[in-house]
Amino acid sequence: MPENSLLLKNLLKEHKQIVITTHKSPDGDAMGSSLAMFHFLKQLGHSVNVITPDSYADFLHWMPGNNDVLIYEEKKKEVQAITNNAQIIFFMDFNHISRISDFANIVSNSDATKVLIDHHQDPDLDLADIIFSDTNASSTAQLVYEIIDSMKLTTYLNKVIAECLYVGILTDTGSFKYSSTSARTHYIISNLLELGVNHTNIHDLIYDNSSVNRIKLLGYCLNNKLLLYPENNSAIISLTSKELNRFNFKKGDTEGFVNYALAIKGIRFATFIAEKEGLVKLSLRSKGSFKVNTIAKKYFDGGGHENAAGGVSKVSVDETIQLIEKIINKHKNKLTN
Ligand code: 5GP
Ligand code: MN
Repeated sequence: MPENSLLLKNLLKEHKQIVITTHKSPDGDAMGSSLAMFHFLKQLGHSVNVITPDSYADFLHWMPGNNDVLIYEEKKKEVQAITNNAQIIFFMDFNHISRISDFANIVSNSDATKVLIDHHQDPDLDLADIIFSDTNASSTAQLVYEIIDSMKLTTYLNKVIAECLYVGILTDTGSFKYSSTSARTHYIISNLLELGVNHTNIHDLIYDNSSVNRIKLLGYCLNNKLLLYPENNSAIISLTSKELNRFNFKKGDTEGFVNYALAIKGIRFATFIAEKEGLVKLSLRSKGSFKVNTIAKKYFDGGGHENAAGGVSKVSVDETIQLIEKIINKHKNKLTN
């Protein structure tokens, strides 16, 4: 058994107070991996709480365990008390403390054993005592399965855990299409289906569960807000907070919009810019060798994967568009060869 799995298995031998946390604006993999771990650890007999830094999209609220999730921004006192009592804290789907916003202050003061499970690049190795970091893994959810497997505890897997893992793998592989999807990914998915996962139903709950406002906002983006740079195989979509308000924006509504720009024939680099909660946020996507995590890190205080990354801009939406245009021009060669 790998050393980190052995250490974790030993750590879990006796009853523990455990906190599981994940990155701000948690996505399907963040919630899927966290809730899968929550159900697994409860099965082992531990006391477990999932704490997110902030709220997340409605299309993830059906997930088993959702009602037990504590949102730091909404329950600071309660979260602080629980975290102060924790003996183990799991960090799921992130690898830098800045990804959990202000909740970092409480976590950093805790002397709990920290366990990191993540698949992003450049992990901060000082962040945790036990580290599972694999940048080749399709998702943190896949890593959770691998860890349970390597600890030889797959008998504890059940339908509820399988559903959570399925959501994480499904969403982080772009429905099994990204290059990180391997034969092993499909083997694991096969096992999850054997455990009773209803994939059609989950697909429906995640992808065919939009409000009318979301679909109309998408139509508005594609009709009115799509900037194309065909000579550089690039595209930008942007939204101001005023425009979002017009469509009664709710968290998660613009998830996936950037992929429509990338779906246009020839486009290799797509940027989605949105002014939310007083910040100008970016989603960067690419096809092929153009590494958007490098761009996110260099210009937008962000990061992510080679073909999917995000960050925050310090200037207005319009100025951010201009900055992206400069970046497109600067990398013209890479984008067109
Ligand atoms: P999205 O565009 O869907 O928000 O994020 C795409 C990827 O980039 C995800 O893997 C996410 O974890 C990462 N990401 C998004 N925003 C940030 C950020 O502000 N900082 C870092 N380090 N990664 C981010
Ligand atoms: Mn992930």
